[in-house]
Amino acid sequence: AVNRVDSDLGRMEAVKRLKGVEDRRVGSEVFDELTLKTLYKLANSGYLAVLNGAVSTGKEANVFKGITDTDDFVAVKIYRVATSDFKKMQYYIQGDPRFKVRTTNRRQLVQAWVNKEFRNLKRALEAEVRVPEPVTARDNVLLMEFIGEDGVPAPTMRDAPPEDPEEALETILEYMYRLYNVARLVHGDLSFFNILNHCGEPVIIDVSQAMVLEHPLAGELLERDIENMIRDFRRIGVSVSADYMRERITGK
Ligand code: ADP
Repeated sequence: AVNRVDSDLGRMEAVKRLKGVEDRRVGSEVFDELTLKTLYKLANSGYLAVLNGAVSTGKEANVFKGITDTDDFVAVKIYRVATSDFKKMQYYIQGDPRFKVRTTNRRQLVQAWVNKEFRNLKRALEAEVRVPEPVTARDNVLLMEFIGEDGVPAPTMRDAPPEDPEEALETILEYMYRLYNVARLVHGDLSFFNILNHCGEPVIIDVSQAMVLEHPLAGELLERDIENMIRDFRRIGVSVSADYMRERITGK
């Protein structure tokens, strides 16, 4: 199936190279016409040669494994425009001084959202927080470093708890500190579901909703992240208090 190319789309030069988009998927929720165009543009720009294999089907986005022209793996996160949570996106993006989006246009909002995820990843990386390195963002598609080994995606910490929980807690607290004090971001949806265990190293993912500290919701979301971390670590036998975590993260 990986080598099938949709003949209807043969007019687009890039489709010859972008293998793996099976014709039965054309017109589906994920691969609507505009998303296909975006993928072809990415292929034409040399970012993507093959799309092969779904990694995850989430509420808002699907993640695929891609292969680049230079035969490297790349994670391809495709937001579904039709069924994304428009209200949530609006709620989170308003109040972020980086984005002046006053739009009721779904596609524009999703594009701003993808941009936000791209910029948040960059900011986190600059603060030396281990996240997937962003490659490019275009329309509703985000390309980023594929976290895994030999094309096998790394499991989440929920599915593969760390061997040394105390050490994992230390690393995550350090990342939360750097996110807060250097990147000046709060993740906002941190849990073991959004931390991959890459050969024993925690990698934080899904920073699309992460917000700048100036955002009026930032304080509330930090508390939520802290509560989620306490709960997830308790499940693997580590107890930590909210006060301790808050102090480690914010210095207060
Ligand atoms: P969603 O918002 O749909 O939950 P996520 O960004 O959390 O999207 O990704 C969903 C899943 O896709 C993750 O749990 C993980 O299994 C996989 N995934 C996401 N990003 C990457 C990546 N960069 N490398 C490897 N796998 C990834």
